[in-house]
Amino acid sequence: PAAAAASLDLDGNPIAPLTICMIGAGGFIGSHLCEKLMAETNHVVFAVDVYSDKIRHLVDPAPPHLVGRISFHRLNIKNDSRLEGLIKMADLTINLAAICTPADYNTRPLDTIYSNFIDALPVVKYCSENNKRLIHFSTCEVYGKTIGSFLPSDHPLRKEPEFYVLKEDESPCIFGPIVKQRWSYACAKQLIERLIFAEGAENGLEFTIVRPFNWIGPRMDFIPGVDGPSEGVPRVLACFSNNLLRREPLQLVDGGQSQRTFVYIKDAIEAVLLMIENPARANGQIFNVGNPDNEVTVRELAEMMTEVYANVSGEPPLDEPMIDVSSKQFYGEGYDDSDKRIPDMTIINKQLGWNPKTPLKDFLETTLTYQHKTYKEAIKRQMSQVSVS
Ligand code: NAD
Ligand code: UDP
Repeated sequence: PAAAAASLDLDGNPIAPLTICMIGAGGFIGSHLCEKLMAETNHVVFAVDVYSDKIRHLVDPAPPHLVGRISFHRLNIKNDSRLEGLIKMADLTINLAAICTPADYNTRPLDTIYSNFIDALPVVKYCSENNKRLIHFSTCEVYGKTIGSFLPSDHPLRKEPEFYVLKEDESPCIFGPIVKQRWSYACAKQLIERLIFAEGAENGLEFTIVRPFNWIGPRMDFIPGVDGPSEGVPRVLACFSNNLLRREPLQLVDGGQSQRTFVYIKDAIEAVLLMIENPARANGQIFNVGNPDNEVTVRELAEMMTEVYANVSGEPPLDEPMIDVSSKQFYGEGYDDSDKRIPDMTIINKQLGWNPKTPLKDFLETTLTYQHKTYKEAIKRQMSQVSVS
């Protein structure tokens, strides 16, 4: 599009079209990033994933206006020699590939560690050896627990921001003991961050590390039994959506007392686009990307989703819309949790001028409308088959 061709970066320089190797492009974040790049830029994307359902509308086949702009490469980065060639042909690699659902961290810790550390190694190596820029997706979970969480629950210092706000260049990474296998993911992500940082320091790798804080929206994860395994446990948005669609109570793990800040995927994708198009401002940086104004406890999230879903679907809430469940029952042995996640926004604001915009209530409405439209009929059909058989 002509408008995109004229666009300028934050320093007023024209943006040259890039070729981007996007690994994990078929996932939740990847699908939104592909859409954004196709709709608003002239960049070319090699979309790499083992799975393409969420970007089928872009690649299977590419619609006429996108031919030559996006191609899908079905490959597993664990064992495919085509990966290096794609990275060499691209200007920039974005690595989103990961096992990143908490239900896997303590039940499939080996897969989790391999996926988040070992499988990411060749990507870093090929970028470093070929002098290619890398944007690597880490996680807010590298912060682990807050310092304040170790104080008694009524301690006044718990209210002081130094005891809970998470800062890229100051906060420590605080994980639980090894038997709490929940932390296998955070630890693997921390080590790959350290490796990338060291490649930057010792070998000049141009990198950006992204730490997403609970990005949510349409196409996140799967609905068990519809487009994912019926025994599968996705992240909280999809768990609660699934319960609401089936008219089951929402399950609050350990009372739903943990706190999260949620950010709308479309706000967060704006931040990623700024990183892509402003390398001078993004290279060498680690960025928190979240919305500190959207903090809720998991219980409050459940209450909001129940209310919003009743409006969207026209179905009144259940008499008992929520039930408590222990983490051991829900996730099994070795689960543990981050207590609170408030991102400090100073660095991303200073480097990229980015701020999140959308209040939680607004994007829960958009997202639950999408969930209802996309899944309600399939769930009705599935539930009637189960009751007949
Ligand atoms: P996702 O699971 O939807 O996407 C990951 C994609 O990677 C999937 O499509 C999967 O098929 C692909 N993939 C995994 N292993 C692969 C392999 N070996 N070869 C090829 N493809 C492979 O998850 P997402 O929410 O889009 O997350 C993307 C990244 O962001 C992950 O690194 C995750 O750790 C990080 N992150 C996301 C959030 C969030 O709020 N969504 C929070 C913290 C971190
Ligand atoms: N959770 C819950 N019920 C569910 C799913 C998740 O209470 O059905 C809780 C989980 O214990 C955690 C929070 O919701 O405290 C967020 O979980 P999510 O899977 O989205 O990932 P996290 O933010 O922990 O990475």
